[in-house]
Amino acid sequence: MKSAIGIDIGGTNIKAIRMSETGDVLNKITEPTPLNNIPDKISGIIRRLLSSEVSGIGFGIAGIIDKKNGIILESPNISSLNNTPVKALFEKEFSVPVIIENDANVYAYSEKLVGAGKKFDNFVAITLGTGLGGGMIYKGRLFEGAFEVGHMIVEPEGRFCPCGNHGCLESYASGRALVDRAISLLEKGEKSILRESHEGNFYKITPEIIYKTAFEGDTLSRDIFREFGRYLGIGIANIINIVSPEAVILGGGLIGAWDLFIEDVKREVSKRALKSLSQKVEILKTTLSEGGSIGAAGLVFSQLKTD
Ligand SMILES: [Zn+2]
Repeated sequence: MKSAIGIDIGGTNIKAIRMSETGDVLNKITEPTPLNNIPDKISGIIRRLLSSEVSGIGFGIAGIIDKKNGIILESPNISSLNNTPVKALFEKEFSVPVIIENDANVYAYSEKLVGAGKKFDNFVAITLGTGLGGGMIYKGRLFEGAFEVGHMIVEPEGRFCPCGNHGCLESYASGRALVDRAISLLEKGEKSILRESHEGNFYKITPEIIYKTAFEGDTLSRDIFREFGRYLGIGIANIINIVSPEAVILGGGLIGAWDLFIEDVKREVSKRALKSLSQKVEILKTTLSEGGSIGAAGLVFSQLKTD
């Protein structure tokens, strides 16, 4: 039975699987992402997953990628990987085809293969984590463009984004945005139980803490999530007006906070997207547990077929 290895390289963990052509996960390994020598770590993981039937290896990674040559040009979260020739490195070591793809695209493809996107041919998947990424499935296949929805402008003179621009969606609807917003409101003296976390050092706040205090009923934390939902809704309304997908699927590390923002997302979408388009769109929560590694393995099979 043919299989492929899929590896999702995140800032926190490396998630790797070996998957059959029919989509069954045969083995999986998750290890923390080391600070240095990441390629060595990955080699070790591949060796543990490798079998004679492996047809190829697919990678998903956050950042700007030269897909043709298989090079990570710039990874904002894992800078030690900048300019790593992933394809050349691992094709030489393992003698099988290697492909690399942006992590949000790989995530979208996972939703198509085994997640909430299975029944749709045209949908957009958005991953809500430290940043905000997106990918699109168009006519059943992964859309090959950048689809950097996190850098769509939602406020012309808005908050600074690490990409160098101002007012990007990611600066309003991401884990980083939640933390920045909480800190700036606390600096202004707003009342909140968030102030007591980390013995009063609110500069150490994490999205998880804001999520916890919001569920405990903290008004400021709840407002921060509602604002997140409003902007996410504006972004989704723009996407709907441009590509009219059948569904928008939301996933990523912040998805547990769904109840804290989804009402505002839906309100904003129905207010701002064209009625004839928005009425048909389903906004759904991810059903995936493996994240992008399945999509990375799946892309190996789809690529081998088209080559
Ligand atoms: Zn940006």
